[in-house]
Amino acid sequence: MPTQPELLTPSKTVSNSLQHSARLWLPKRVLFTPDALQEPFGQQIYERVSALDLPIEILKNNRLTGLRGKDDRETYRIAKNTLAVVKAPPSSLRLQPVPPSADWQMNLAEGCPAHCQYCYLAGSLQGPPVTRVFANLPQLLANTASYEQPGKITTFEVSCYTDVIGIEHLTGSLAECIRYFGSRPDAHLRFVSKYDQVESLLDLPHNGRTRARLSLNAESIARRMEGGTASVEARLQALRKLALPPPLGGGGYPVGVVLAPIMPIPNWREHYTELLDRLADALDFDCDLTVEFITHRFTPGSKTVLQEWYPNTSLEMEEAGRAEKRNKFGGLKYVYRPDDMKELRTFFYTEWRRRFPDAPILYWT
Ligand code: SF4
Repeated sequence: MPTQPELLTPSKTVSNSLQHSARLWLPKRVLFTPDALQEPFGQQIYERVSALDLPIEILKNNRLTGLRGKDDRETYRIAKNTLAVVKAPPSSLRLQPVPPSADWQMNLAEGCPAHCQYCYLAGSLQGPPVTRVFANLPQLLANTASYEQPGKITTFEVSCYTDVIGIEHLTGSLAECIRYFGSRPDAHLRFVSKYDQVESLLDLPHNGRTRARLSLNAESIARRMEGGTASVEARLQALRKLALPPPLGGGGYPVGVVLAPIMPIPNWREHYTELLDRLADALDFDCDLTVEFITHRFTPGSKTVLQEWYPNTSLEMEEAGRAEKRNKFGGLKYVYRPDDMKELRTFFYTEWRRRFPDAPILYWT
């Protein structure tokens, strides 16, 4: 492998029209609860959104109301254009384990400005899909210390319920987390995004304790189903910037790829081969890289919500073609059948190891 990469190497095979950055999300409404404004970090967010000239409303009490439209479509539209800055409730201080991604999840926000037709949040967050950002983030971060174990690295995932880069220009929350974990010898931070605005992260003192991951998928899936996000090419270049050493203008982060949700679309081998080849082009230098493979799945609840949000979706959600899987609480989800899973898994493991023999596969699910 060459060891003297240039800062940027746009793929030779991809036309300019496929290289777009994610459009910066500028919500039409920004709501602050009184409690959020009492928090110094909430005031910092207030300064940021004021500087962007966004319409701000200070609520009279701490409840978010009036977010529903006349039908599901309008409710969705209003919610996806609303940022609410709130104080996370005391229950957020009790962290939940989040295997296999990390030891614990710690949420800096809930809700996301993007429009993925398979969205993982459907059915797991209640109410209209407003993006709620937590103004008491420093308190949430300090609380993670009680989950650390001396002499062992404890990992914290901040991307379970939002896209952390998609809202970073409005909040600065991800930078706050990276700086915090940069100072914790026994803890590591993990985040993942489909956005490419990584410039503000490159100079942060992460001390190798944040793994920066980009979510990738076959070009045709990303283009059809991941509205509002960066193009695959822009994500590949963002990953490259995050991974490149600082002397070459990069962030020097340990990085990762979350290949998700994997779908056996027609000609899937060709589509995913192209993606893996482009990834190898983008990461043509030695770096600390991992991969996570996540196949598409849905639940009865998520299917209902997604059909409300995206009534014209081409997303395949036919129970008849799937296998049923139950979690330990009896919850049902539909995954690909064992034979299909085996074929997919064999392909991805083989093709990954062929290109990235030193980059561990963290899990397949
Ligand atoms: S980026 Fe993630 S959270 Fe946001 S809409 Fe897409 S799937 Fe949902």
